[in-house]
Amino acid sequence: MANVLILGGGFSGVVAAERLAQSLAEEHQITLVSRDRSFVFYPGLVDVAFGKSEPSDVSFDLRDAMLDRRIRFIQGEVARIEPDANKVLMARGEVEGVLTYDYLLFALGRRLATEEVPGFFEYAHHLLTIDSAVEFGAAIKSFSGGRAVIGQCCGARLPVPVYETAFALARLLESRSERPRVTIVSPDPPGYQLGDSAIAHALRTTLEDHSIEFLSEFPVERVTPETLISKNGHNINYRLLMLVPPFRGSAVSRTLQPTVGNEGYLNVDNTMRVQKCDRVYAAGDCVNFTGPKMAHMAVHQAEVAAANLALEIAGREPSVTYSHELMMVIDEGGPGTLFIRQDLSESDGATVKQGRFWSWAKWIHDKYWQARHS
Ligand SMILES: Cc1cc2nc3c(=O)[nH]c(=O)nc-3n(C[C@H](O)[C@H](O)[C@H](O)COP(=O)(O)OP(=O)(O)OC[C@H]3O[C@@H](n4cnc5c(N)ncnc54)[C@H](O)[C@@H]3O)c2cc1C
Repeated sequence: MANVLILGGGFSGVVAAERLAQSLAEEHQITLVSRDRSFVFYPGLVDVAFGKSEPSDVSFDLRDAMLDRRIRFIQGEVARIEPDANKVLMARGEVEGVLTYDYLLFALGRRLATEEVPGFFEYAHHLLTIDSAVEFGAAIKSFSGGRAVIGQCCGARLPVPVYETAFALARLLESRSERPRVTIVSPDPPGYQLGDSAIAHALRTTLEDHSIEFLSEFPVERVTPETLISKNGHNINYRLLMLVPPFRGSAVSRTLQPTVGNEGYLNVDNTMRVQKCDRVYAAGDCVNFTGPKMAHMAVHQAEVAAANLALEIAGREPSVTYSHELMMVIDEGGPGTLFIRQDLSESDGATVKQGRFWSWAKWIHDKYWQARHS
């Protein structure tokens, strides 16, 4: 019997647990450990902020969902890993002390490095928890003119909610017959993180259609009550501010792989095995790949890791490989909605499509995903 421990109850942890429950015989034990009892469907948080979804639409109870699939769920905080002893040390929660494993899947996501931007917590809104989306929603309701600034800090690696928030805000102000004054700030040019000139062109045109200003080369340094200040000496005043903070790998990563780089993301091979660690895999925002960090990548990586774990448990060599592909919908709320697909491991150009259909497709995909997994 193998004892498989999965750390993290986000997209990658949940999908890996489900795949393993389907592929492994019942004698094997699968345990999912996570800090919170709720799964959060992050792509739905822009809709929560704009009142198009309720908080209960974008989360579900992990313990109930896992029980249905014969997966043991433990709520608790992972403090460190001792890979030489096959042990995970828990800081608090339902288990205090040690959990052991035969195989480990690390899926603890990213850490928000808000401490790198003074004033972030005091003055900026963000969309990284359900509560913060609700608070931002209240600020949107009471926003009565002036400039709205929406942006990414250096290392944020999450462009979709920035564009979707700017589009939703512009549409809201247009519907109130107000002149939208929406500015996106970014350390990079439009579409840069998405990696292709066709994407940049399509985004630029759609932003212009809504009179959304794009300020590139604006690496956020700090936030004051009315002004956002960049590292290269520029200032912009705001009445409403939403920022995506810098991301870093989980602090627990270093206990597994002391050589992780400055950003703290784990190095894996193309089977999603953590380099230089036997019987340990990783998937999702915590791993070190180029480009933005997205849910569909986390899901694909989790599927690959689960397939290879099952092969290893059966005494075979891991042989399923991950290809790093970008696929996303940036919902403009109408015909400007963009579908983007690009293989980030090849130099081929991106596929870019635009139309209202993609807005519906994203909505249907999101609802299907939540219903299937909850
Ligand atoms: C506002 C927003 C909009 C987005 N929109 C899109 C989109 O449109 N399309 C798209 O593809 N992606 C989108 N994303 C990105 C997507 O949500 C992430 O890529 C995805 O959540 C990554 O999944 P993950 O499992 O790696 O990490 P997470 O979902 O972050 O899960 C990590 C889990 O680990 C747990 N955890 C962390 N540390 C510990 C610890 N020490 N002990 C115990 N548990 C711990 C956390 O509680 C969490 O359950 C969006 C993200 C946000 C925030």
